Amino acid sequence: MEIEFFGAAREVTGSCHLLRVGGRTVLLDCGLFQGHRKEAQEKNLRLPCPVSEIDAVVLSHAHIDHAGRLPFLVNQGYSNTIWATSATRDLSAIMLADSAQIQERDAEFLARRQREYVEPLYGTRDATRTLELMIGMPYHKEFEVVPGVRAQFVDAGHILGSASVIVDVTEQGATKRLVFSGDIGRAGLAIIRDPEPPRAATAVIMESTYGNRDHVPVDGARAQLGAVVRDTAARGGRVLIPAFAVGRVQELVYDLHTLLHEGAVPEVPVYIDSPLAVDATSVFEMHPEVFDRGEALVQRVPDLFRFELVRYTRDVEESKALNRAQGPMVIIAASGMAESGRILHHLANGASDPRNTILTVGFQAEHTLGRRIVERRPTLKIFGDEVPLRAQVEVLNGYSAHADRTELAAWLDTVRASSPSLGPVWLVHGEPEAQDALATTLRAKGYQVECPAPGDRGEV
Ligand SMILES: [Zn+2]
Ligand SMILES: [Zn+2]
Repeated sequence: MEIEFFGAAREVTGSCHLLRVGGRTVLLDCGLFQGHRKEAQEKNLRLPCPVSEIDAVVLSHAHIDHAGRLPFLVNQGYSNTIWATSATRDLSAIMLADSAQIQERDAEFLARRQREYVEPLYGTRDATRTLELMIGMPYHKEFEVVPGVRAQFVDAGHILGSASVIVDVTEQGATKRLVFSGDIGRAGLAIIRDPEPPRAATAVIMESTYGNRDHVPVDGARAQLGAVVRDTAARGGRVLIPAFAVGRVQELVYDLHTLLHEGAVPEVPVYIDSPLAVDATSVFEMHPEVFDRGEALVQRVPDLFRFELVRYTRDVEESKALNRAQGPMVIIAASGMAESGRILHHLANGASDPRNTILTVGFQAEHTLGRRIVERRPTLKIFGDEVPLRAQVEVLNGYSAHADRTELAAWLDTVRASSPSLGPVWLVHGEPEAQDALATTLRAKGYQVECPAPGDRGEV
């Protein structure tokens, strides 16, 4: 079997690797390249190989940097099967539709600026057709990808439906096992089960996003969230949380639900003000089979995401009405870096009130409004107006859905413990600094590590 690394090679986005076995080609992931618009656009238009050569796609999870180029593949004529877990398939339904809308809006924006027609990478119809090709599989259930190649999904513990992929390839009577980690999550994350490192691997393709960093422990985040809600409510203010609609919002709702159950926060209303988050929550509710039965709230409460104090607003008028509402409350709205979406209205309305708290719960990239908030700039530019930043600013780092360097190494150690003939470990999905640091750590532990660049190949 030959592997060719195409995307998320020496970088984080565009996850895509080609597997060539017995004259057939299988893609592991087909993610969107993100970042600087022009550079990303060029990369996104370049296919990993002629579409007619691709016999199947196996998808690790629904994040756009892993699934977001599938509709383009379909637009270019791909019509074979896309394998995923059932929850990933359903999450992809809303995430790819959302991505298609963003592609269409971006193309429109560019067309207006350049005064010429710019074609979107793909549209809503391509996203819908992609779903027709997707087959949702349970975890631990083997399926035949192409003759001679069998695969199964195991928990990656990263987001709902996320999987590591076990690929068993039989050539000339001998079977070898390639493990593709997907994005590896963390033990103890809310709602979903912990990562399950596969056994008996011959070779591993592993992510390395935080290969040079350790996170704060998972358990601290909920307590910190509770403290922020308590303090803000005591001042009579609101907690404004910019958050990614898929995954992070549901974790926050779950944690607030837990805190209320424990009596750790006062009874203040919680508004989830994002149509995409409302849809994503429905997908979570459709997949209780992937919840972590070991968690107290999962055991005790039949409906994790609906409780007396939580309200989901889909309607724009309802969202605007929140500006006039009185008293303490929590408002969670997209986008995660406060670049767009309804959180902007709430920030324009609430950033200047010292009783309020703006709480960030995820990475804030440079040049985003979220970053300027975290830097506590004296004023924020929102909808063209300068808004003084007088609200409290709190930063919660415990919500990362990615394993840190210690957790990545521990995951691989567990794989090796049951893999007497473990060969190469290829690091993907990481910036060069993160990858090089992790590679050094792993080599010192005796692993045979490579950090492939786009176009590099490996043999198993
Ligand atoms: Zn991911
Ligand atoms: Zn990723």
